Amino acid sequence: MSRVSVSKSGIRPVARNASLDRHTQRFLELRRGLEQIEYFCKGTVLKRMMKCGKAQCACASDATKRHGPYFELTYKANGKTVNVKLSPEAAPLYRAAAQQYRKLKTLLNRLDKLSKTILRQQANWQNPSARIDSKSGVIPISPA
Ligand SMILES: [Zn+2]
Repeated sequence: MSRVSVSKSGIRPVARNASLDRHTQRFLELRRGLEQIEYFCKGTVLKRMMKCGKAQCACASDATKRHGPYFELTYKANGKTVNVKLSPEAAPLYRAAAQQYRKLKTLLNRLDKLSKTILRQQANWQNPSARIDSKSGVIPISPA
């Protein structure tokens, strides 16, 4: 962006531009991280040892004699917990995918925060009379 020499409202456009550039740079850096994301899957992989239910089986009285491990993918969908049985072979695959999902979420949260900062600055830039409410962070919409 070019410099603005006129500063009727007492703003300092050059300083603000430097800050905007820094944020934009950081945004682009973080966005590149999205390309590093592998197949992802929302949820957590659980490893469970189960009782078979037979009274005479050792698992009934001894927790170390339970059967398994059995693997499950658990996640929430529409407020309900969903459990999906996984084979022992599939478990590491889903565990890695769940990790990718968390990575993606962290990245998205950072991008979201940064985007909001940039948007606020851009909005201020385009409309210097608009002031951000420091308490709510909301830009008041000026009457047309
Ligand atoms: Zn048993």
